[in-house]
Amino acid sequence: MSEVTRFPTIPQMLEMSDDELRSLDMYDDIHELRAEIAARPTPPACPPWCTKEPGHSYDTFPSHGENGGTEWTRWHSAKPSPAAKAYVSQMEVNENGVVRLLDEPKVSVWLEEGADLTADDAYKAGAELVNAAIKLREIQQGAA
Ligand SMILES: [Zn+2]
Repeated sequence: MSEVTRFPTIPQMLEMSDDELRSLDMYDDIHELRAEIAARPTPPACPPWCTKEPGHSYDTFPSHGENGGTEWTRWHSAKPSPAAKAYVSQMEVNENGVVRLLDEPKVSVWLEEGADLTADDAYKAGAELVNAAIKLREIQQGAA
């Protein structure tokens, strides 16, 4: 019988002890990542329509930006409820303090690939889509 071992994820490695990291030969990499995370920039104010907590943090680990700097990414969103499958969102990138909102706000939809919906689920998803479209129009017209 073989034992299945799973390599820890980066978030798990960030919580590991130095000895555990050395055993994985990840000590230097994770300490470098911890230093980058500790030095992450303070995000600017959200667009007025964003319903996340004010000053919400970056959603991703640092990566290499298109201009050669360290890039942090977060998504602003206007979600009517935490479980909403359709809502307005917009991506923000901070590369070495230069903050860019990418594209315009858009309606994001998250359904399972190949989802088979009951009639009730389909009505609910349709209503969420329409409500997200209404919210996006309000944002575009400066009313949100
Ligand atoms: Zn936001």
